[in-house]
Amino acid sequence: MTNRRSALVLAVEIFILLVIVVFLAGSARTKVTISNRICLGTACSITVYGNASKAKSAIGKAWDAVTELENHISVNLPYSEVSLANAMAGSGQWLEISEQTYELVDFAIRMSDKTSGAMNPALGSLIAMWGIGTDDARVPSQEELETALASAKVGNILLQRRDGRCFIQITEAATVLNLGAVGKGWAADVAAKVLSSCGIENALLDFGGNIYALGKFPTTFGARDFSIGLQDPDQYRGMNFSVVSVHNLSVVTSGSYERFFEGPDGHRYSHIIDPSTGWSIENDIQSVSIIGPSSAVCDAMSTSFFILGPEGAASVLQDGFDGYFAVFLLGNGADRRVVQVGSDGILE
Ligand code: AMP
Ligand code: MG
Repeated sequence: MTNRRSALVLAVEIFILLVIVVFLAGSARTKVTISNRICLGTACSITVYGNASKAKSAIGKAWDAVTELENHISVNLPYSEVSLANAMAGSGQWLEISEQTYELVDFAIRMSDKTSGAMNPALGSLIAMWGIGTDDARVPSQEELETALASAKVGNILLQRRDGRCFIQITEAATVLNLGAVGKGWAADVAAKVLSSCGIENALLDFGGNIYALGKFPTTFGARDFSIGLQDPDQYRGMNFSVVSVHNLSVVTSGSYERFFEGPDGHRYSHIIDPSTGWSIENDIQSVSIIGPSSAVCDAMSTSFFILGPEGAASVLQDGFDGYFAVFLLGNGADRRVVQVGSDGILE
């Protein structure tokens, strides 16, 4: 009897010990390190799950890589490679640039081609003229827009590789390169790669609405996909009209509610410019979110799909973009509707 009771006590003790071990293992996995920065003109955050000291050092390296990218491509920094290329536009001279800037400009030109010019990296003079998101925002005149549009040609941006070195030349003085539509997505991909190379398995990056979910969200007894909310533009920040579950995927949203300029007449001008007219885009799209493996591709699509709409988006997605999906929020009030392109089953 005593033997049986002590066996029972032992079994209970072993069970309790096991529960404690599993709990401790689980809580070790779910350590969270969060780091916030302002970069690329927006609020950026990196959240890493797992060992804190490993996370801290990996996050530091990721920020270094993002800062290096920003120093190369920002139009707000006078000595960035992009600013220098713009300053030399029309001079007939080639400017030597970093491999990364070369790759990003090449990518932007290719995405411009894939989106029939809806995403146009040569729109810089129009973006500066509108100034949306700055203190100098204004509505340009039709004449100003037409003059600027005449030089906003992606074909004026030339790239060249010579002896393993990279060069850029902008052939017309009035053409201005601006990578604002793809820079944040590219940065999120760069940062995610740095984290992975440092051995980080699970992290969530949010670069001004460009989200990258690296790995999974750890729970006490395992892991699940990250749940990413799609912001409801008619509600407070953080209130979603839908949720997507993702791992090793990016979710990028462009919204007309995000950044806009209210003109003297009270009219709202979106920060996305229609490259066929030079005017701020006017349509019934409230937001478009793209889900896919590369944040840079999603970023290029989110901007261009705002112009192309669901039908144009469908034909771009069919042109070699397997694994990419778009969610449009269209209309207002009773007319409001969600349209999924590329798959019906992405929303929860
Ligand atoms: P996103 O927030 O990714 O949609 O990018 C919008 C930003 O890209 C704007 O703030 C402008 O700087 C720039 N932009 C606006 N319209 C276009 C366009 N049609 N093509 C390329 N860049 C654009
Ligand atoms: Mg974009």
